[in-house]
Amino acid sequence: MTLVSKITVLLLGYEIIPKTVSTRDRGARFVMSEPICAYLIETERGFVLFDTGVNVDNIRDPVRRESLFMSRGWLAPPIVLPEHDFLAQLSAVGVSPAAISDVVLSHVHCDHTGNLKHLRHARIWIQRLEHEFAFSNHGNLAVFNDDFDFPDMKWQIVDGDWELMPGIEGVYTRGHMPGHQSLVVTLPKGGVKVLTADAGDLWENFEDEVLPGESCDDVAALASIRKLKAIAEARSAELILLHDPVRVQTLRLAPEFYD
Ligand SMILES: [Zn+2]
Repeated sequence: MTLVSKITVLLLGYEIIPKTVSTRDRGARFVMSEPICAYLIETERGFVLFDTGVNVDNIRDPVRRESLFMSRGWLAPPIVLPEHDFLAQLSAVGVSPAAISDVVLSHVHCDHTGNLKHLRHARIWIQRLEHEFAFSNHGNLAVFNDDFDFPDMKWQIVDGDWELMPGIEGVYTRGHMPGHQSLVVTLPKGGVKVLTADAGDLWENFEDEVLPGESCDDVAALASIRKLKAIAEARSAELILLHDPVRVQTLRLAPEFYD
């Protein structure tokens, strides 16, 4: 039983990062151009969004670009072509931000929280430990509190594995961040997709069980990679990676969809 009718993959830009950000101690010579994706899930109860991409205003405004990216040691600001703009991607599939009633956040890094400013009417589902971290004195250079610290945000706090509705399951995948979560979505034709988010950026993270570059808990990060692989195995599910530049080319991207 699932209330989901389809998943649309939104390609919301690219980030230019050392490969070791994705694969611990692997590929120090290499710079990657990695996609930034989000997922629009149509359900019988309305539209659900999993993650929200990066805030283009932080890139286009020279002062914010300097203070948020360049002075924090990024190699370059993310690249968001006009067609990869969040609102353009939504409009390409005929959906307005107002139609999105629920947003599930994998974690609070800036390439996942950037368009929450358009979604302040929606319920924002986040793991308790991630919410606590986000509003602590975290010092994390990739967490931009200005992108999500709005007084009217409708935070919905969850703990561990949970279900948003039949067909959409949150899976606690701590490691990369304290309260990271992934999503398992059951499609109407019976297919199951595991939206991994940053539990592993690249296929290599899953195939070779390579830790993410950044983690708050390496034991949990490895367990999370194995947890998602086990779900995929048990349910004949496909892992859909948010940041893999090769696999993204094999996906159906908006306006195409999975049903
Ligand atoms: Zn991240």
